[in-house]
Amino acid sequence: MEDPLCLLTVHAHPDDESSKGAGTVHKYHEQGVHTVLVCCTGGEAGDILNPAMDKPEVRERLHDVRMEELARATELIGYDDVVMLGYRDSGMPDTPENEDPRSFAKGEFDEAVGRLVAVIRRQKPQVIVTYGDDQQGYPHPDHIRVHEITLPAFEAAGDPDAHPDAGPPWQPLKLYYVAWARARIVALHEKFQELGLESPFDERWFERPSQDHRITTRIDVREHDDARRSALLAHATQIDPESPFWFGLPAEVAREAYPYEDYVLARSLVDSDTPEDDLFAGIRVSDRA
Ligand SMILES: [Zn+2]
Repeated sequence: MEDPLCLLTVHAHPDDESSKGAGTVHKYHEQGVHTVLVCCTGGEAGDILNPAMDKPEVRERLHDVRMEELARATELIGYDDVVMLGYRDSGMPDTPENEDPRSFAKGEFDEAVGRLVAVIRRQKPQVIVTYGDDQQGYPHPDHIRVHEITLPAFEAAGDPDAHPDAGPPWQPLKLYYVAWARARIVALHEKFQELGLESPFDERWFERPSQDHRITTRIDVREHDDARRSALLAHATQIDPESPFWFGLPAEVAREAYPYEDYVLARSLVDSDTPEDDLFAGIRVSDRA
């Protein structure tokens, strides 16, 4: 018996799973791939970014509210399992949250790697998705930490001598970084202009060096954009439904303007030719026949 296909993504806060790669997960879930989200923190330090939700009764129980939002969003995306790694949101540098020893960024590094190794060994993913090594665009300490722990966890999960208490070894086969393509920004920006709408993409978006030459893998998600949009909206405290950045274009226009999610293949133990259009290229039984 072949092991069933499993895709595991590692994200920092509730809502990151909806803003990065949600269409991809929805697509693989529909194909019968087992999909697992590892959410490293509870997002306690997040601001309420939707004015309509900025009320004392929401503020008081923000942690619980964000957990409820996450449950709804992950159901819409089609995550079969959601695993909380159990850390507190580290907030941005120079905030009190950032000094909290229970925070993800201040917690002991090997301990965090070990927690992720235990999840990988239990869930047995062939493919892991994490954040890239270049996070200049949004240098949140928790996002940087996600990248930093996933690399050693990918290697250690298959090593019987590493974290021996974290279960029997399991070696994932491919590691990807989520990418936010310049080509996406250009395509959406041009659509705003074409329709005579004000584009949320100002010159700062175009000043950052493009990472597009690193993209190896492009997943067609045009059939899965509704799931992505509704999952974003489920994060009512974090995502303003009036946001031009997320919802400025009509849904049917946005879907066709740039119908892909992009990835960088960072580590692979199988043969697959890049560019790819499938995260499981080289892993499926048909590829190896
Ligand atoms: Zn985040």
